[in-house]
Amino acid sequence: MIEKTFTQTFSAGTRIYSEGEKADVAYVIVSGQVEITTAQQQGSVTLNLLTQGQLFGEMALFENAPRSATATAVEDTVLTVVSQDQFKERLNNAEPMLRMLIRVFMARYRLSLSQTRSEGMRSQLNAPLPENTLSEETQLLAVGKFKQESELREALQNDQLQVHYQPLLHLQSGLWAGFEALIRWNHPTRGSIPPLEFITLAEETTLIIPIGLFVLRRACEDMVILQQERSKVIADAPPLFVGVNVSSKQLADLDFIERIVEVVNETGLHPSNIKLEITESMTIDYQLVVKWVRRCKELGFSVAIDDFGTGYSSMEHLLELDIDTLKIDQTFIRKMHTEDKAHKLVKGIVNLSRAFEFSIVAEGLETEQDVDSVRDMSVDYGQGYHIGKPQVLEDLLQQIKKGV
Ligand code: C2E
Ligand code: CA
Ligand code: CA
Repeated sequence: MIEKTFTQTFSAGTRIYSEGEKADVAYVIVSGQVEITTAQQQGSVTLNLLTQGQLFGEMALFENAPRSATATAVEDTVLTVVSQDQFKERLNNAEPMLRMLIRVFMARYRLSLSQTRSEGMRSQLNAPLPENTLSEETQLLAVGKFKQESELREALQNDQLQVHYQPLLHLQSGLWAGFEALIRWNHPTRGSIPPLEFITLAEETTLIIPIGLFVLRRACEDMVILQQERSKVIADAPPLFVGVNVSSKQLADLDFIERIVEVVNETGLHPSNIKLEITESMTIDYQLVVKWVRRCKELGFSVAIDDFGTGYSSMEHLLELDIDTLKIDQTFIRKMHTEDKAHKLVKGIVNLSRAFEFSIVAEGLETEQDVDSVRDMSVDYGQGYHIGKPQVLEDLLQQIKKGV
C-alpha cells in the first residue's frame, strides 16, 4: 500500500523512530534537524546530525529491516515520507542494467548486515557518508523528486488538482465545438503549477493512472453540465466534445479502457463526445497502441493524434491507426506566416487529412491572422489563445450563456 501520510511534523525532542523497530518508510527533511543515535554500553551515541534536504531511514526502502538506529527531531521538524512502494516503482522502471546493479547491491547489503549482526558487531550503516558520495546536484534532484511526488499524491487526495478547459472553435460556423481538458495543480504555496512541471513526474510513476482517471471523470461531469447549458441556448447545435490527454503509461495499463468505460457510463456522457488524445512520441510497444486505438473505436470513443508532425512521426501510423482527428502542432502554426515551407507543410497535412477523412485541429492560434489562415485552408477546428485560454467551468458557462 502507498502511504497515506505524505508529510509529517515532529516537535523538538520527539522520537521519529527507535532502533529495532520494523520499518517500511524513509524520510526527507523539509525543515528542521534530526539526530541519529544508537544505544551502546556507555549510553546513547550520536552517529549523525542531519539537516534540510537529507534522506534518512532509507534502509527500510530495501527491505522491512529493523531500524538500525534511533532518529529524534532536534528542533521542530517537517519530513516528507517516502514509502517502500514509491521506491520499488522507480526501481521497476529503471533501465535493466541499473536494476540489476541495485538488486545485486541490495543482496550484498543484506548478507553483510546479517553477518555483522550474527557476529554481534554494530554496523557502520548510519555513519556519515564520505563528502563526495553524491554530487549536490544528484542529491537535490533525487530528494526533490521524492518530495514532489509525495506532494503530488497529497494534491490528488486533497483536491488541489483542477481541470481547465480550452475551447475549440468550429471554424466554418464560428461556434464552439468542444474543449480540451488540461490539468492544473493549485499548489498551496506556489500557486497554479502548469502540467509540464508535474505530468512527467506522474508519468515516471503510476500516479498518472489515478490522475488521468480524475481528469477524465471531471471532464465528463463538466461536459454534461456545459452540454445542458448549451442546448438551452442553441437547441440544434452539434453536441460538444472534450479532448482528454492520454499518456503511454495509461495505454500500457490493461484495465485502463475498462476504467474509462466505467467512468463514462457513470457520468452519462456519450463516448463519441470524448476524444482521447495520444501523441506520436509514445515510447511503448507500437502494436499495443494499434490494439488500444482499435478497442477505443469499437467502444465508440473518438481518437486524435496530438502534436502531429513532432516526435517520432511515421506515415505508417496513419496507415495502421484508425484515428478520427489530427491535431497540427503549434510549432508549424507559429512558423506558417514567416516560412513558406511551414505554410506548405500545413497545407499538405490538411490535404492528407482530407484524403484519409480525418478532421483537423490547428493548435496554438494566437492571432486573428492565424485563425483566418487556417480557416482559408479548410481546417475544421481551431484552438489557441486567440480563441480562448484554458478556463474553469464557471467561466465557460458564462460564455455559453451568451451563445458562443
Ligand atoms: P497539449 O496536449 O499539446 O496541450 C496544449 C497546450 O498548449 C496547453 O498547455 C495549452 O494551454 C497550450 N496552448 C493552447 N493554446 C495556445 C496558444 O495559443 N499558444 C501557446 N503558446 N500555447 C497554447 P498546458 O495546459 O500547459 O499543457 C501542456 C501539456 O501537458 C499538454 O500539451 C499535455 O501534453 C500535457 N497535459 C495537460 N493536461 C494533461 C492531462 O490531463 N493528462 C496528460 N497525460 N497530459 C496532460
Ligand atoms: Ca493535447
Ligand atoms: Ca497538442
